[in-house]
Amino acid sequence: MSQLPNCPKCNSEYVYEDGALLVCPECAYEWNPAEQTEVEDSVVAIDANGNKLADGDTVTLIKDLKVKGAPKDLKQGTRVKNIRIVEGDHNIDCKIDGFGAMKLKSEFVKKI
Ligand SMILES: [Zn+2]
Repeated sequence: MSQLPNCPKCNSEYVYEDGALLVCPECAYEWNPAEQTEVEDSVVAIDANGNKLADGDTVTLIKDLKVKGAPKDLKQGTRVKNIRIVEGDHNIDCKIDGFGAMKLKSEFVKKI
């Protein structure tokens, strides 16, 4: 994670690190990123049944999924443990036995 967040006050992207603090050169705001970890609430993943998913949940696939570069498809019903919710189109980060690190769309899984 080398990408620094934008300034929470003026949304400047020219934020730099100063010790444990992050500093915005445009509005001179300084803050401690370690105290901001709860702001992640904007990242939401909803499963096929409309349930909200959270980090550490276990889900199963509701359909077969093709995996780019893999010799076989991910099969419907595959159990995926300890998912991590991330930002983006593929909003689930996980590890699947036999496939390794994967990104999935939350609409293709359901919470167990
Ligand atoms: Zn700023």
